[in-house]
Amino acid sequence: MKIIKIIDGRVINLDKAKFLTELKNHELSLLIQLINYQEVFWPNGKFEQNPAGIEKLTLTLVDIKEAEKRLERFAPYIAKVFPETQETGGIIESRLVKIASMKQKMEQDFGKPIPGDLWLKCDSHLPISGSIKARGGIYEVLKHTEKLALSQGLLTMDDDYSILDSDHFRRFFSQYSIAVGSTGNLGLSIGIISAKLGFNVTVHMSADAKQWKKDLLRTKGVNVVEYESDYSKAVEEGRRQADAAPSCHFIDDENSQDLFLGYATAALRLKNQLQELKIAVDENHPLFVYLPCGVGGGPGGVAYGLKQLFKESVHCFFAEPTHSPCMLLGMMTGLHDQISVQDIGLDNLTDADGLAVGRPSGFVGKIIEPFLSGIYTVSDERLYRLLKDLADSENIYLEPSALAGMIGPVWLAGEASDYLSKHALSEKFSHGTHIVWATGGSMVPKEMMEKYYQKGVN
Ligand SMILES: *Cc1c(COP(=O)(O)O)cnc(C)c1O
Repeated sequence: MKIIKIIDGRVINLDKAKFLTELKNHELSLLIQLINYQEVFWPNGKFEQNPAGIEKLTLTLVDIKEAEKRLERFAPYIAKVFPETQETGGIIESRLVKIASMKQKMEQDFGKPIPGDLWLKCDSHLPISGSIKARGGIYEVLKHTEKLALSQGLLTMDDDYSILDSDHFRRFFSQYSIAVGSTGNLGLSIGIISAKLGFNVTVHMSADAKQWKKDLLRTKGVNVVEYESDYSKAVEEGRRQADAAPSCHFIDDENSQDLFLGYATAALRLKNQLQELKIAVDENHPLFVYLPCGVGGGPGGVAYGLKQLFKESVHCFFAEPTHSPCMLLGMMTGLHDQISVQDIGLDNLTDADGLAVGRPSGFVGKIIEPFLSGIYTVSDERLYRLLKDLADSENIYLEPSALAGMIGPVWLAGEASDYLSKHALSEKFSHGTHIVWATGGSMVPKEMMEKYYQKGVN
């Protein structure tokens, strides 16, 4: 039987609401704000300054390094078939750029200083698919590719993998299929790399996926199946169809450890970039990282990798739309993927299509529980204003989802400063570094970007 309760005029599904009795007072009031689509900041009560458990997790630093080695083996192939990656030798990586003018703009608008330096990690401009999904998505397809080719004795790990660019290999891979469910960007990444290798690839797209992404994939020979419902449904259908076909590999955004590891390699790369830029990260120079969160694999993988490398010197925060705060809800209630934003009466409708996810990953929230610092929510209107401000101040154009991280330093410098005092960071804050993870945008068509910009104008 469904038990329903009205809180603040909103219908709540109380089948899931054992948690209501367990929530602390401040969390209950936060829940009411969530129900009303207000912007909130949630400090993770289970956060440990120095999480002892991180070494005992099933995924380790060794796994991340192994993933990085695999990407290095594929680099000659990537450089050959995607010439835009030649500059980095076939390594798919983005720049870290200082955005001092944007920082100034935010300081003016919010009327307070933001101590520390503000940087943007430009995954928006990653080659091949222009979003953070070019990390996890492409990694998982490459891992699957390697496994198939090795097991059939067609490849050895000492080969130059650029031999994969041949009709012989494409014919071989065409016997296999790959499927994925996506709000858009994961589909782009999986579709482009899989089609290039010769796989039969099907992308199950949720209703919020943009038309241009579907069109682009079709021009590359990808099967695109469209759904009228949201992301969870597209994933479910994709999984069901793939399960019925033994030669099909389903990329499971809600549960995949390979995706997660692909994202996590970003941490190794970032560490090198910080060293090259002579940016200190240590006990006296804290690093704050702000990551837009959908199902959680991307931000979770990056945060996990950073935590392995920088331990208590790094502080990771996730950002979600006010209409889709699935990770916040899952972690705060401890129910993880057993609760969706629809269960508390939210509509999961947001223009931040990469983040339009109503139910979080089944494993990410549990892994990051001891080391995620907190999660905050952002309204769509604010995303558009930040989009315009970044374009005006830095001439960098991002898709709406990718702006979600930007407001994090403002929270810490103001209403969420408790976090700093609680963890003895107040004094060190001005020697700190903020990194806003810009997760997508460079492939957005110009007319569409112009519309986004206009929405931020008033
Ligand atoms: C997918 C995506 C994210 C979030 O990644 P998840 O793994 O879904 O949490 C953030 N921004 C953009 C632009 C994305 O496409």
